[in-house]
Amino acid sequence: MPTVFVRLTGCPLRCQYCDSEYAFHGGERSTVNSVLEQVDSYGAKHVCVTGGEPLAQPNAIALIRALCDEGYEVSLETSGAMPVEDVDARVSIVMDLKTPGSQESHRNRWENLASLQQKDQIKFVICSKDDFDWAVFKIQEHELLARVGDVLVSPSFGQVEPAALADWVLKSGLPLRFQVQIHKVLWGDKPGV
Ligand code: SF4
Repeated sequence: MPTVFVRLTGCPLRCQYCDSEYAFHGGERSTVNSVLEQVDSYGAKHVCVTGGEPLAQPNAIALIRALCDEGYEVSLETSGAMPVEDVDARVSIVMDLKTPGSQESHRNRWENLASLQQKDQIKFVICSKDDFDWAVFKIQEHELLARVGDVLVSPSFGQVEPAALADWVLKSGLPLRFQVQIHKVLWGDKPGV
């Protein structure tokens, strides 16, 4: 779906595969109204608030609420390391659970799972077969398929062949949604797309 991405600066994590390091620093200060005006200029119905780790910004919750109030379909991409309890109930949360291969799995805030609903998604970025097996174990341990609308698995770019991950999904017998980074397929591995 045509979507406007609002990318907020900063992230307390350092996943080894991160492709958004340019978002750790810099950016410019904006008011909520200024962001709303920029979003409106694109004319899309869907807005994805992402980062970095968007919830690391103190005003992210207010921005997200304002986007919902304007009538946008809002999704939030978050690392799973920050509390999500205060995120507006109209938002579709796309929450990572960091695998051991990310080198940040100790940052998973497992208590976030209690806040997720059928409108939400959980995503695993898979760096190896061991990561996939770990994800399957966590899916079963926490009954994730019943908790959220979709459980997504995505191959870490350059570390797992997409076809290999698709094969693991089929062999697992689990109804997982397979996802590739479509912006890289379309426009290459570069910032700003
Ligand atoms: S949580 Fe996301 S933005 Fe932060 S280091 Fe990991 S991949 Fe990069």
